[in-house]
Amino acid sequence: MTRRDLSVLVAGAGIGGLTTALSLHAAGFEDVRLVEAAAEIRPLGVGLNILPNAVRELTELGLYEALAARAVLTAEFVLYHRSGGQIWREPRGLAAGYRWPGNPVPKKGGEPQPPNPFKEGPAATHLNSLLATLGK
Ligand SMILES: Cc1cc2nc3c(=O)[nH]c(=O)nc-3n(C[C@H](O)[C@H](O)[C@H](O)COP(=O)(O)OP(=O)(O)OC[C@H]3O[C@@H](n4cnc5c(N)ncnc54)[C@H](O)[C@@H]3O)c2cc1C
Repeated sequence: MTRRDLSVLVAGAGIGGLTTALSLHAAGFEDVRLVEAAAEIRPLGVGLNILPNAVRELTELGLYEALAARAVLTAEFVLYHRSGGQIWREPRGLAAGYRWPGNPVPKKGGEPQPPNPFKEGPAATHLNSLLATLGK
């Protein structure tokens, strides 16, 4: 039996499920199905703090350009006291010596829709689908 013969079901199309399904597909699993209980995939909240090691994984999956188009790649992290005095300052991402940038947050006015590489093709996303039980 090869990877091509195996079917994989991933439950949940958050960043974890989407990345898992995409990684499995990149590793040679062709029948990867993603079930998501929600009726649609849309951004929620301010954004995700994605560190350099995670940016590396997304880059490996060919998603860097899509990510960079939606993100501000921060160069430093600075904490200020409410009176204005600086408490802490440290470089982040490339400025800190990582080979990948980190800490992207969504750009104001940027593309609202996150990339969903599973809209079509063998690794399909099934929305409105709750994985209720697992059995043999
Ligand atoms: C209020 C709040 C604020 C946050 N702010 C930040 C932030 O500013 N920066 C940051 O980096 N992180 C933030 N986080 C954390 C971040 O949102 C999570 O770490 C991240 O989204 C987790 O991704 P995930 O894919 O593991 O899970 P989720 O994004 O939770 O995705 C899981 C998905 O699985 C689906 N699902 C669950 N069970 C089933 C099932 N049985 N069948 C089908 N589908 C199912 C759910 O509907 C959901 O869409 C915040 C979290 C919360 C709650």
